[in-house]
Amino acid sequence: MESKIVDFSTLAIQDLVRRGVSAREFAYCPYSKFQVGAALLCNDGTVFTGCNVENSAYGASICAERTAVVKAVSSGHKNYRAIAVVASHGDTFVSPCGTCRQFISEFSSEAVVYLVKPDLSKVLQTSVKELLPLNSSIQDLIRKSVSVRELAYCPYSKFQVGAALQCSDGTVFTGCNVENASYGDVICAEQTAIVKAVSSGNRNYKTIVVAAALGDTFVSPSVTLWHLSSGYFRVWF
Ligand SMILES: [Zn+2]
Repeated sequence: MESKIVDFSTLAIQDLVRRGVSAREFAYCPYSKFQVGAALLCNDGTVFTGCNVENSAYGASICAERTAVVKAVSSGHKNYRAIAVVASHGDTFVSPCGTCRQFISEFSSEAVVYLVKPDLSKVLQTSVKELLPLNSSIQDLIRKSVSVRELAYCPYSKFQVGAALQCSDGTVFTGCNVENASYGDVICAEQTAIVKAVSSGNRNYKTIVVAAALGDTFVSPSVTLWHLSSGYFRVWF
């Protein structure tokens, strides 16, 4: 889901947002004075609300989003459709902190996230996936690219590269660089993965991860690869 700003009046989950606004009033934030409310919509329609609860030992504070999630989990609800987060910070929207993103993702990586201003003027509609793109499936892809790198045949350059290509249907193809005494016939890891995919009938790609070690710098695919590829690539170097 692409993030977009929408009018409150167009939302089907207005009640959820209003409950987040109400929950914000309960915020215990004597240190930051920054009130946050959250309303979590479970798949079965149940709603759990939360506010931030601070502590004089700052590290013991808990965010509104996690308050709502722990209330839900401890009531037997682990599948969520959406969460509304309400806070006021000038012209900007307030988004969940990294810990809360991870926390929600643990249970529902597909959940829609609504970032709301208390006056209900504008709402930023986004998703856990947008807020936390490096999710577990990507981590799995990264591990595969690192593993396949060990298979690289590179007696000339000694430079191992691995690639893991995720197709639109979820299938993953891996590849490593394969060198040849005739240097011009060398094939890159990315190309290896792509030719394996194409020759298996998969031509639409979502993600490619390239793994290589070159000191402090990242290794990016050759320009040729970019010209060869027609799909949508998201690359972590
Ligand atoms: Zn948080």
